[in-house]
Amino acid sequence: MAEERSARVVVIGGGIAGLSAANRLRELSFERKLPLAIELCEGGKRLGGALETVRRGGFVVETGADSILSEKPAALKLAERLGLSGEIVGTDQRFRKTFVVRNGRLLEIPEGFSLLAPSRMGPVMRSALFSPLGKLRIALEPWLPRRRGGGDESLASFVRRRLGGETLTRVAQALAGGIYTADPELLSIGATLPRFVEMERKYGSVIRGLRAAGRARAAEARGESGARWSLFVSFRGGAGRLVEKLADRMADSIRLERAVVSILPDGAGRNRPRRWRLRFADGAESGADAIVLAAPAYAAASALGEAFPALRAKLAAIEYASAAVVNLAYRAEDFPQAPAGFGFVVPAIERRKIIAGSFTSLKYPGRAPAGTLLARAFIGGALNRDLMALSDAEMVAAARDELRDLLGVGAEPSLTLVRRWPNSMPQYAVGHLDRVAEIEALADQIPGFELAGAYLRGVGIPDCVAGGERAAEAVAAFLAREVPAGASRDAPR
Ligand SMILES: Cc1cc2nc3c(=O)[nH]c(=O)nc-3n(C[C@H](O)[C@H](O)[C@H](O)COP(=O)(O)OP(=O)(O)OC[C@H]3O[C@@H](n4cnc5c(N)ncnc54)[C@H](O)[C@@H]3O)c2cc1C
Repeated sequence: MAEERSARVVVIGGGIAGLSAANRLRELSFERKLPLAIELCEGGKRLGGALETVRRGGFVVETGADSILSEKPAALKLAERLGLSGEIVGTDQRFRKTFVVRNGRLLEIPEGFSLLAPSRMGPVMRSALFSPLGKLRIALEPWLPRRRGGGDESLASFVRRRLGGETLTRVAQALAGGIYTADPELLSIGATLPRFVEMERKYGSVIRGLRAAGRARAAEARGESGARWSLFVSFRGGAGRLVEKLADRMADSIRLERAVVSILPDGAGRNRPRRWRLRFADGAESGADAIVLAAPAYAAASALGEAFPALRAKLAAIEYASAAVVNLAYRAEDFPQAPAGFGFVVPAIERRKIIAGSFTSLKYPGRAPAGTLLARAFIGGALNRDLMALSDAEMVAAARDELRDLLGVGAEPSLTLVRRWPNSMPQYAVGHLDRVAEIEALADQIPGFELAGAYLRGVGIPDCVAGGERAAEAVAAFLAREVPAGASRDAPR
């Protein structure tokens, strides 16, 4: 019979995936009366990983992720359970436009254009974003044959094949590849934009597929009172509210500056030793009955050491790109022309120092005091690795140069904040989904061990929340077989 004690679960990594896993474990512990001792070990000094809101001088500064895709429900459902529903804010529809830089000018993305293809030809034909030949090539898309055979391909190959090279270099590389700060020649279309692959398969054309999706959305909107939220949402106090609430809930379980350097399986002996032995950076050791490993793939590989060589090798093979975000605050009058959209992307072909810029205070309410404007510039990514060598001052100078050139802003910003995100963006290379299936199959063979994080099945916050929660459910199901039921506790706060 199992011993009457709490099972000890250690979650490694305090990014949104690890926090979501720990929180779900806590919920399941109450719901299922499962006595769990949960510990979340974060190597750094702070929680949240790539999610961080800094409040300074009346500004709500997002140094990393700032938007949550509302179409994928996991993050909003978590927010609801955390009592954050009243703090959710949608984007300001007046500025719902994105621009692309072409020959040093900001041009609006044609209406109906979705990441790499248009749903309507009219706006494309009227746009200065494409050459006449480029437009003709896009217009041919519905008549091109479907791809024969299956298998993954790169985003670049998919776009070139369906819509032509100009769509790739002028829009898709910056807009779709930019989300992953990736090289589109290497990026898997199947792992990043499967709906476009499905459109080609089902309709023989992405343009026809986008039109069908538009009709379906319109029919749905007629049936209901319309979508509850804009496509992207955040919280009144910044995206970091999610992290703050989670941290608050689990204050007792959180250990900062507790980097796990090795995870070793512990033989199950007579006195029920823990299944896992963890070693920390300071040389301390502890045991665990189950583990959720929610660190980036390279850190997970390193912690696994020689214990699981096949899994370790597959994790270590996932590459990462680095990026930096420069926040700059201005007076509204410093902009000769008021920005008219959420932001802009910069195709690599333009050879500039930033890969994108956005206007946080136009996107969401309450980000900047009245009369001021908060802008962000993104530097780095897989196509601009060299720029990560710039100093902070050089990054600010690079962002200012580009804002001067593209928007005529010469004024000195009243606030600047540079945040580097080294090795933060997992690169979903062609074949990524097969690689992940292999990783999951190997991890499945290890009892009481789950993986979570952005390198698996989606880099976005909702995917990371869903992955963390899935790992928690699996661990709880595993432990339920071992931990005696019936221990009652207070309901969660
Ligand atoms: C600049 C930027 C902007 C982004 N913008 C958006 C956006 O607007 N919307 C969106 O949905 N997504 C966005 N993303 C993506 C998204 O934020 C991330 O994919 C997601 O936050 C990753 O969460 P994670 O928990 O998997 O990993 P991470 O956030 O990387 O967290 C992993 C944690 O594990 C810790 N760790 C590592 N090794 C160890 C160890 N050995 N022991 C203990 N702890 C360890 C790290 O310190 C870190 O805190 C953005 C990403 C970046 C970098």
